[in-house]
Formats: sequence, structure tokens, C-alpha cells
Amino acid sequence: MNEYNEEQLEAIVAVRDCLEGFSPGLRATLIRRAGNYLTFRQDVDAFLACHFSGVCTLTCYEDRRSACCNREGIITFFADVAINVLISQPKEIDRLIEALNLQNLGTKCVYLGNEGCLWKVKPIVCEMFLCKYARGKVFDNSPAILNEWRKLRRREKRYTWPNRPVLFDELERYFMERGCGSSLMYCHNSPGLLRMKAQWKTKSTGFKAY
Ligand code: SF4
Repeated sequence: MNEYNEEQLEAIVAVRDCLEGFSPGLRATLIRRAGNYLTFRQDVDAFLACHFSGVCTLTCYEDRRSACCNREGIITFFADVAINVLISQPKEIDRLIEALNLQNLGTKCVYLGNEGCLWKVKPIVCEMFLCKYARGKVFDNSPAILNEWRKLRRREKRYTWPNRPVLFDELERYFMERGCGSSLMYCHNSPGLLRMKAQWKTKSTGFKAY
């Protein structure tokens, strides 16, 4: 198994095992906590279906694939994994684990199955990816649609970009406090994101974070 698959597998299994110790009430609380984010994801899906389904090929959207699926090793955040595992059925998680255990011979994403992406809520990087051709086709003649997209991109940052308290950071902390660790916890191990969090703390408290 290559390093990427190993890292992904570790994160999925860590979340799954951690969640097994949670009561149904605690799981429900976590799902509620991610509720606004899931609404945001539905809004992005609706936007893409409305403005891009006519432009993108059958392969891209009817099969729920995007061009990024042809890349190996897509970036996933720990919160992507946590949210997806949280709302998936055990057999859907097993399918992800099976895919990661297979040798990935091609250059396509390991999660790309015969009927599209195996994730229930795919990683945010994939959701927000629009290829150059599609962007040009839709946005060049419609500033209003481009504006709508920019609003969605700003909303995305409210959940993912830790220059303020965000869900993605909170979920990492939540699982860390329960003994779950992963190299995908970028809000807690990426120098760039840690710097951003420190800057935010300095701004909001007036004290420099060391
Ligand atoms: S995770 Fe899913 S949407 Fe993202 S590249 Fe892989 S198959 Fe495509």
C-alpha cells in the first residue's frame, strides 16, 4: 500500500473506531454541529447542477465525477473524513477501506468507483473544483453566476479556513481530545495553518501566541 492510501486508511479507521465509542446521542450532536456545513454543501450541489450540468460531460456530473478524479492523491482534510464517516453507513465505509486496500495502478483517484465517487460527502477540494474549460464557458458570459460562485467560495472559507474559529479546526480538536490522531489534521500540524491561527489569536486577544 502506498503512503497516500495508508494515511487515508489510518484516518478513516481512526474516526470509525472513535465513533464506535460514542452514544447515538453524541453522534447526533456532532451531526447537528456539522448541519450548517452540510446545508452549504447542498447549496454548492444545487449551484453546480443548475449552472454546470449543461456544460460538463456525462462523465463529470451525471456520474458525479469531476476532472480532479483523474488525479492521484487528492488532498483531504481530517474533517472531510470525520463528516463523511459520521454520516455514512458501515458498508459505505467498508467500500472506502476496500478501495484503499487495492493496488492503485492507474493515475485516477483511488476513491473513483465504477459509479463515481465512493464518498457520501466528497472532500471539499473536489467539491469546489471547476476545470478551466467549464469556468470559462459559464462565467465568461455571466458575471452574476460568477458572483454567486464567489459567494459560495467565501462561505466555504467560513468552515475550512482557520483565520477564525471554523468547523474543520473544531472537529480536529474534538477528536484529538478523545485520543484520535491523524496526519490529516492540517489545522493542527500544517505550519501555514498554525501561523494563520496564531495570527487570528493575536488579533482577537491582543496577545501574541507563542
Ligand atoms: S475523492 Fe471522489 S470526487 Fe474526489 S477525486 Fe476522488 S473520486 Fe473524485
